[in-house]
Amino acid sequence: MEHKGLLQCDELYKYILETNVYPQEPEPLKEIRALTASHRLSVSSIYETYKLHEYCFVQFETCTGSWILFCRFFMGTSPDAGQMIEMLLKLTGAKKTLELGVYTGYSLLLTALTIPEDGKIVAIDVNREFYEIGRPIIGKAGVEHKINFIESEAILALDKLLEDDDNKGNFDYVFVDADKVNYLNYHEKVIKLVKVNGIIFYDNTLWYGSVAKSEDSVPEVLKQGRISVLEFNKALVDDPRVKIAMAPLGDGITICRRVY
Ligand code: SAM
Ligand code: CA
Repeated sequence: MEHKGLLQCDELYKYILETNVYPQEPEPLKEIRALTASHRLSVSSIYETYKLHEYCFVQFETCTGSWILFCRFFMGTSPDAGQMIEMLLKLTGAKKTLELGVYTGYSLLLTALTIPEDGKIVAIDVNREFYEIGRPIIGKAGVEHKINFIESEAILALDKLLEDDDNKGNFDYVFVDADKVNYLNYHEKVIKLVKVNGIIFYDNTLWYGSVAKSEDSVPEVLKQGRISVLEFNKALVDDPRVKIAMAPLGDGITICRRVY
């Protein structure tokens, strides 16, 4: 189990996952999670990203004074956040979608399984290698025809999409889960692509709970992300173009509706 550290109580998170989330999680998503957790490339990428060795555990003090451990073997979207994304995709009837940060494809497959047969996903990631890990499962699930994968720096791909006026205000749903340091830059572009009343999800907006801690109590690996996420959350709440709802699921996910 990958405890994302917000509930800060393993038993409660385990309860949520085992009794509410996993029983309804589609089989291909379970498969992509298991494959990612065990794949040589994804595991070594975590080592490299977080400069961790041997075991991917990070330890730090929580608000309650206890110590927690969490494992980063699965960098994909948390299944409990995924469950809520699926609900909103269905309720809004989203068809034309965009995703920044694909990794091995958990959130991408979730969207592909949820949107209608003629729905589309523009999926952008700077690294195709990880997408290729999950791709056979996406193919087997019969939803690959909905996906247009673009290997690119997200900012460049967004600029390209914005060159075509037909894309402006034309996406029903956007999922942002690439590098946190660029979330504000992505927001400025994505807000032009999503339609009025369309939804943007920003993942990891509580950054392992570090947003509510003092800088010196946060482990080195989380510091840069914490600063970016704090700045981003502040800018979003001050942005009159959107209304937000912060959902403390997974690692924190901000649901954002374009107002005008
Ligand atoms: N949503 C994914 C899932 O559910 O499995 C997880 C995404 S993972 C947290 C972040 C991804 O963002 C990585 O695959 C990484 O290659 C990609 N990424 C990081 N910086 C990027 C950038 N500047 N442009 C595009 N993709 C980027
Ligand atoms: Ca994420």
